[in-house]
This record gives sequence, structure tokens and C-alpha cells, in this order.
Amino acid sequence: MTANKVLKVGMHDEDMFDREKRIPWIKFNLLQKSKVLVVGAGALGNEVGKNLVLSGFKNISIVDMDKIVKSNLSRCALFRIEDAEKGLLKAEVLARELKKLDKTVRVSWYSKPIQELPEDFLKEFDIIFGCLDNIMARLYINSHAYYYGIPLVDGGTLGTSGKVQVVLPPRTACIECGMNKTHFKNLEQIFSCSGREDVTIYSPKLPAEITTTAVISALQVLSGIKIISKQYDSLPYNLIYYDGYRNVFEVLEVPLNSHCPNHITQPTKPKKEKKRK
Ligand SMILES: [Zn+2]
Repeated sequence: MTANKVLKVGMHDEDMFDREKRIPWIKFNLLQKSKVLVVGAGALGNEVGKNLVLSGFKNISIVDMDKIVKSNLSRCALFRIEDAEKGLLKAEVLARELKKLDKTVRVSWYSKPIQELPEDFLKEFDIIFGCLDNIMARLYINSHAYYYGIPLVDGGTLGTSGKVQVVLPPRTACIECGMNKTHFKNLEQIFSCSGREDVTIYSPKLPAEITTTAVISALQVLSGIKIISKQYDSLPYNLIYYDGYRNVFEVLEVPLNSHCPNHITQPTKPKKEKKRK
């Protein structure tokens, strides 16, 4: 054994990701090279962003139009009370804090509605994480991601319940496939009540707490790691339902709805894998 191959006590402690690299199926080099988009920088966005950086993702973009308020602080570990007092932008502060977790991470941010970014903005990414509480934005990223053949891992919480849907075009259903008549009726009411695009819709504040956010965001990022590592057989097909109060954790299948508009225009082939060096 040559001198430079001698193992020294503590040498592995110098690698931030040493423990994760011991999990054989995780393709760490692919995580580092992938480009990921986090839509929503609130509670789920904070946790998903933190999980991404601490899992080794290096190229992260964030979209969120909101400013930080004090009621965000109980579920957003990376925001501070000073950020709320100054009314700073969620996307900007999340980007700032993610770089502190790992200074080699490249983070870009956009403080505007996802619908106002260029039509083909989403196609630059290898995976999209939906961290939204806004149904219109959720449907927008769903239809665009499906069209471009980009995996979408969408999370949502309500009180101590939550769900994660893995949308893997063209093999799984999309989010709209799982919407029922009540969902669409609610959307119709929103538009018929306002009649104008520039009207702000009042939506009641929904109950939320951090442990459910932490569970759902962890499942989102773990699904993302599996997708990037090409571990498709171990993915949940295609919806995980979690009820923390009743201790329920289920995987349900959302069937593809042949009437869903997103499958009429879907590409005939999945997105080609980019060559990775
Ligand atoms: Zn669909």
C-alpha cells in the first residue's frame, strides 16, 4: 500500500456528503449535475430547498412572488423575524440561506408568478418540485411540465395531513387527472365571481404546522433523488397520502384520465436524457 492510500482516522469527516455516498443506489454525481426548480418558497419550499442542498443538489432555481410575513416563521426554518419585519422576498431570502448551507450551490431566484415567466422556462429543468398553495399555479406547472416531459413532484399539506404526487410523463397520470368535479366547480366560481384577471381572489388561510411540512417535503425530495438516480421502480406510483393524526400512510394510484386535456397534447416520446459527463 502506498503512503497516500493509508486511511487516516477522521479523513471521511472532511467530506460533507460522506454518509450519503455510502447509500449505493443514490447517483450522487447525477444529483450534482441536475437542474432543479422549486416553485413556491414558503413552508414546503423552505424544507424542500434545505433537503435538496443537504442531499447534494447544486443547481437550484426558486420561483415565488410573495414577501415574508411573521405568520410564515413557524414553518420556515430559514426565515428570520428580521426578514419579516423588512418585508423581504421569500425567493430571495431562501436563495440567500441555501447558499449558506453549502457555498458551492448555485441558486437563482425569480420573484414573480410562475405564469409570468417565459412559456418555455420550465423545459430547462430536470425535475420540478411543486411547493404551492395556489391551485392555478399548480395546474400551470402541471400542464407545462407534462408537455415538456419533465418529472414533477408536487406536495401539499392541510393541517396534519398531506400528499405527494409523482408525475412522470408519459407513464403516470398528471395532477389534473386526479381532479374531481368539485375542484373544477370551485375554479369556475373563482372566475365567474371575478370576471377579470386582475382581481385578487380572497382565499382563506388554511391550517398548517411544521411536522407535516417536514414529512411531505422529505418524501418529495426522496422521490426526486430516486428520479435523478433512475430508481423508477422504487418510486411511489403515484400518490402518497399521509394523515399524521390517524397515523395513516398510504400509496394510492391516480389513474390516467383519457379526457384530461394534458394528454391530448402530450409528446409522443418522453424527454430525451441529457448526456451527462
Ligand atoms: Zn392528466
